[in-house]
Amino acid sequence: MDLHIHTNRYSGCSNLDPSALLRKARDVGLDGIVLTEHGIRWSDENLRELVEASGVKDLLVLVGQEVACYTPRGEFQGEFLLFGYPRSLGSSRSLEVILKLVHGEGGVVIAAHPFKKIISANGDGFYGAGHLVYEYDLDGLEVAHPSYDRESTALAEEAMRKRNLAGIGCSDAHDLMSVGLCRSVFPDPVTDMEGLCEAIRERRVKAISMKAV
Ligand SMILES: [Zn+2]
Repeated sequence: MDLHIHTNRYSGCSNLDPSALLRKARDVGLDGIVLTEHGIRWSDENLRELVEASGVKDLLVLVGQEVACYTPRGEFQGEFLLFGYPRSLGSSRSLEVILKLVHGEGGVVIAAHPFKKIISANGDGFYGAGHLVYEYDLDGLEVAHPSYDRESTALAEEAMRKRNLAGIGCSDAHDLMSVGLCRSVFPDPVTDMEGLCEAIRERRVKAISMKAV
């Protein structure tokens, strides 16, 4: 499965048409995808319409969301994938609040690209949670991501081991070419969002990258 994808329906930064995405996901051999727009969760009805209109069968299409978190003082805490929360959460809350809300609904919170490097004059130079993954009650983190170099991957794998987190692989696709570049492999079949959350909570998932690092 590819658990982190943006479409142009709700993410202004993406040029990925939702129907084309579903066809592409099948073409590259994925069994399932999760739509993770910025701060917005697809409604179940819109999702149903999309799947019907696309004509794609045999692809599990689930919805989560990706939120940016900030402390009450406005400091960036990273971006996080939320699975299993039924409503859109926007991108203005703190990670503490997000964890309480999502765990309260039986969902999971995953650090999105915590060790993705950016050029910055201050902070630790990551566009993501960085070493905050050691301080919060997260369920998982992306250990395979197209933006990672060897060092980012090593940092993510180290955090996964030390914190006993689920390590997932995701494309973070904003265009057709990227769909499925990194993937999450589940040893047991996943058929719905509840099952996906359970597998992540129990760490029954492995990350793979199809891209040479
Ligand atoms: Zn993203």
